[in-house]
Amino acid sequence: MPLNITFKETLSSYNEMIMKSFVEKLAEYNNTLIEIRLYEPSIATDFSNYFCKLEGLLKRQLENGIKIKYEICTAGVGLTMKQAGFFREKNITVCLLMDGPKSIHEHNNILLNRMGSHEQAVHAARLLTTYKVNFYIGITVTSVVAMNIQRIFSFFIENGWNSHAYWPVMCEMHQKMPTELLSVREYQYFLEQLFWLWKDKRMNRQPVYVREFENLAGVIKGYAPLVSSLSGQCPFQNVFFSNGYIYSRGCREGHTEYLCKQLEEQGLLVMKSVDVKTECKMCRWVSLCQSDRMCCMNSSVFCEIYKDFYLSILPEIFELLRNLGK
Ligand code: SF4
Repeated sequence: MPLNITFKETLSSYNEMIMKSFVEKLAEYNNTLIEIRLYEPSIATDFSNYFCKLEGLLKRQLENGIKIKYEICTAGVGLTMKQAGFFREKNITVCLLMDGPKSIHEHNNILLNRMGSHEQAVHAARLLTTYKVNFYIGITVTSVVAMNIQRIFSFFIENGWNSHAYWPVMCEMHQKMPTELLSVREYQYFLEQLFWLWKDKRMNRQPVYVREFENLAGVIKGYAPLVSSLSGQCPFQNVFFSNGYIYSRGCREGHTEYLCKQLEEQGLLVMKSVDVKTECKMCRWVSLCQSDRMCCMNSSVFCEIYKDFYLSILPEIFELLRNLGK
């Protein structure tokens, strides 16, 4: 089971002392796989220096044989050829935030100078393609995105950006779903439309990857989840802030408490947050629903549509798997 750590602020914000004690504590784990997620909306010019410092600390503290996967989440603003080459060299997966064509993307993504960021996101996607960086598009589902999902999906496919992950908009972690930005019915419409778009392409053996549905198909088939979102651990399980606070939320009982105890002993302040609700633990869909955005954070808001959705797609996924000979 991978251990997921999300650095919630840009790497340059973390003081060396805090970073060092955090990494020392990580070394006490038995996890053979650690997934580090970095958040860098605009790639800082000195990002590679900070990354190398973090990588060096991890290499020094962790035993050989422990695998570390890095992922960076970015809007692609300011990405240079050199940085794209660096991501490739360090095997860093990139989640590039883009919400579709310009008019839809810029509905929600305006830079501080009040300019839209679409052009920069498109430029970044082209650079990442050129440099053969492993990347996927991350799409935040708002009302506008939900109601235009066909256009958005076509835009990405036409550009050859076939790998996507979608998540409903939310307030800061562990907060409620802002239903004024995405209503339950809009999200239901979105899920259904996207599922059919994905299934149609997959039935025709076209290369498209929608992370959530690929995972559902894999889990239904009995495979281990492809990403942590369905492994019973939320990717936001351990969110590390530059002031040393770590928000910890586990989808499996026991794990959160263990981590909190370990980190508190190290003098880091751990804020325990949301646990899986009792109704989810009892639910027949929990193994499918234990997804990054699907279950823990939004259960009270989207639960009613998830149950119908899982029921309706189950035979469709079986049909797809048969068609693919799996
Ligand atoms: S369908 Fe509802 S009750 Fe079941 S696991 Fe998902 S959010 Fe929880």
